[in-house]
Amino acid sequence: MLKQLTLVFICSLTLIACDNKKSSTDNTASSAEESQTEPTEVNVYSARKEALILPVLDRFTEKTGIKVNLLTGKADALISRIASEGKLGSADILITTDIGRLMRAKQQGLTQPVESDFLKQTIPVNLRDTENHWFALTTRARPILYSIANVKPEQLKDIEGLTSPDWLGKICIRSSSNIYNQSLIAAMLVQRGEALTTEFAKGLVANFARPPKGGDRDQIKAVAAGQCDIAIANTYYLAGMLTSQDESQVAAAQKVKVFWPNQSNRGAHINVSGTLITKHSPNPEAAKALLEFMLEKESQAWYAEHNHEYPVRSDVEQSEVLKSMGSFTAENIDLSKVGELNGEALKLMDKAGWK
Ligand code: FE
Repeated sequence: MLKQLTLVFICSLTLIACDNKKSSTDNTASSAEESQTEPTEVNVYSARKEALILPVLDRFTEKTGIKVNLLTGKADALISRIASEGKLGSADILITTDIGRLMRAKQQGLTQPVESDFLKQTIPVNLRDTENHWFALTTRARPILYSIANVKPEQLKDIEGLTSPDWLGKICIRSSSNIYNQSLIAAMLVQRGEALTTEFAKGLVANFARPPKGGDRDQIKAVAAGQCDIAIANTYYLAGMLTSQDESQVAAAQKVKVFWPNQSNRGAHINVSGTLITKHSPNPEAAKALLEFMLEKESQAWYAEHNHEYPVRSDVEQSEVLKSMGSFTAENIDLSKVGELNGEALKLMDKAGWK
């Protein structure tokens, strides 16, 4: 049975040292002994909500007998916590979203390489770190979403087209503080360079319907309500709304459709959810076993379906709601570079006036 480290989490919030962490996972005293014996537990820090990961972890415990201690929290808080815990850290694995965060953890020296032929064979090369520090679990797409009532798909083509004066006052997108937008711009920087990316950011800002506010769902709702004609948002939000129990969310989502941009050139922007093993993992063998388990077909199918994301394994089917949004060509770029350019992207957005 899995246990949430609620007490540990409270300690992290108050920055008080936790005695209970030491009792189970202090690697200064026990790592040598542990490596000699069968691993019995693994500690997972997850930026994904419990309901979106726990059943996979439960199945891992059933299969291997290795207990999983799950701590959920905000991604940046979990990364800060791993950094501040240092060598005495209890985290074995971090599960998070966005390449910007996976690379941030790597650049801060919080990760370790994982040598696994299974992971190399299972995950496409562009969806894992060249030095094996992070591995994608799913991909997510950030295309154009348009108002079915006000926009004809023939009016759309590439994302760069959204800078045309035709879209003046018609575009909704969240703020530049959002990492998904930072990665969108970083990916453009990688592929098109600074001058063209700056031109795009300025042109997009000029067409904003309103100062950026809210999350991706709010942009979709704004399109549905006629406050803007176009949103840029991750498709799993639209999928979540379409399959929601809340009728108003379903009704809003049904007024909006996906358009896949850049299909005749570099492909639509994608990002990942992913995982890594921490540098000071007290249970690295159990952590590696869990990483590999998460890439097994059955785990991938469940995880991708429940997160409304695309499995990284091509032999696992997409969910029906994602299939209904159509197939598309995705960007195929070095995601590590996208993560590395996160800071540059934010500076560029700032200069472009993207609040
Ligand atoms: Fe999200």
